[in-house]
Amino acid sequence: MVSRVIPVDPFDLVIFGGTGDLARRKILPGLFRRHCAGQIPDEAAIIGAARTQHSRSEYRSFAAEAIREFANGQPCDEGALAAFLDRLQYVAIDARGTQGWAELAGQVHPDRVRAFYFSVGPALFGDLAERIHLHGMATDDARIVVEKPFGHDLASARALNATLAAHFQEGQIYRIDHYLGKETVQNLMAIRFGNMLFEPLWNSQYVDHIQITVAETVGVGGRGEYYDKAGAMRDMVQNHLMQLLCLIAMEPPAKFDPDAVRDEKLKVIRALDPVEPHHIVRGQYEAQDGAHPSYRDAVGDPRSSTESYIALKTHVSNWRWAGTPIYLRTGKRLVARSSVINVMFKDAPHSIFGQEAGRHANVLSIRLQPNEGITLLVTIKEPGPGGMRLVDVPLDMTFAKALGPEGEDPPDAYERLIMDVIRGNQTLFMRGDEVEAAWAWTDPIIAGWKSRGEVPKPYESGSNGPGDADLLMQRDRRAWRGIKP
Ligand code: NAD
Repeated sequence: MVSRVIPVDPFDLVIFGGTGDLARRKILPGLFRRHCAGQIPDEAAIIGAARTQHSRSEYRSFAAEAIREFANGQPCDEGALAAFLDRLQYVAIDARGTQGWAELAGQVHPDRVRAFYFSVGPALFGDLAERIHLHGMATDDARIVVEKPFGHDLASARALNATLAAHFQEGQIYRIDHYLGKETVQNLMAIRFGNMLFEPLWNSQYVDHIQITVAETVGVGGRGEYYDKAGAMRDMVQNHLMQLLCLIAMEPPAKFDPDAVRDEKLKVIRALDPVEPHHIVRGQYEAQDGAHPSYRDAVGDPRSSTESYIALKTHVSNWRWAGTPIYLRTGKRLVARSSVINVMFKDAPHSIFGQEAGRHANVLSIRLQPNEGITLLVTIKEPGPGGMRLVDVPLDMTFAKALGPEGEDPPDAYERLIMDVIRGNQTLFMRGDEVEAAWAWTDPIIAGWKSRGEVPKPYESGSNGPGDADLLMQRDRRAWRGIKP
């Protein structure tokens, strides 16, 4: 298969927080893979900017190590690596002071697309935006990339939007949610809106319910201090699960254009019903046989009432989805790492095969990780003699690897999203009003359990989460699909 990589125009990319964990694990290795794919023109420059003093060669060594460790699937050709490292510059900078800014302004080219990646804590976003502006770098061709978390609640998200808007237009602000950069998430849109087959069935007449699960096996790890103030609702539901819900439930946009797509997503968020208290289950993981500490030990607060797990039922109140519930669940220290959306179709209205054939319903499974892919469960006759027995088989619709450039893994979400920033395509980034609407839905849920003084249910590490989450489904005569790796 011929590679269809289209090179972008020359650019300068400044990575604030260029020595941090995200730069090391995702941004630098992702850029290297794009370099190897031939997408980055020779003139493009990448400038790491962070608080620590480093020489240019020290920064290149840091980048080389990161790439060797994390550029998954990219054969690390030393010649290609040397050419990539040649692009790298480093500036020691103080986001809150004056150090480094004049030097940085001298390094970016006046006539190029310039992207500033804010890979630092959100407390610094405003300082960075202000100084980029002050030093004359906020030109029309400039854009900023903002990492999560985007605010802590509606008020803080509004304040952050206002701070960024003081220096940049909305069309220059790229709020990243790396779930949107996944091949399969975009394939979901291709499958929905590029085929006649699914769209007529994509409504409450044919879809019984939808399950969105994002399960992790890791605990809070080194993020305890941040996580204990956030919890699963703020850390995962308000952003990642909400974005997936939007793409599943939105109306077809008139065109695949950033604002057309984001207008439709916004309508979904605004149509979400408030969640009833008895439709939410919060959990907190316990220690695992001495192998892993409990949540409370991990965050160092024996009385913490922050949830590491959440399951809830919600509705999109519009014509398409009236009567089709959407169940969301996410948690840490669960039995397997698995992010999957299951669209559960209704049973056939009448079974001509009798009771012994069992109940069979179509399921469209969109797996985001691991093993990205889309399968459709269809019911067929079990092959062989012995009567009409039915069996469900998966139709695999995963073509990313088969159709992509030979021998290469499809690009990681970050690679794709960074290239979209350079191209100026905001389709896969959250708009300010979307983020605010998501907080407007989330805030009362959190305020509700705070005012009721609810504490999360303990659950065993390595399990499916608290048993109450199963009851949430059983009350509706439904069941979660298993969390499988
Ligand atoms: P980190 O703590 O590893 O790195 C922080 C970086 O910011 C360092 O390079 C540090 O030098 C720089 N920095 C801190 N204070 C500074 C200052 N005053 N002036 C200039 N530079 C300063 O953080 P991280 O894990 O890389 O995360 C960065 C951002 O990305 C955060 O907003 C985080 O929430 C978000 N994020 C991280 C991940 C991840 O996997 N690490 C995932 C999603 C989102």
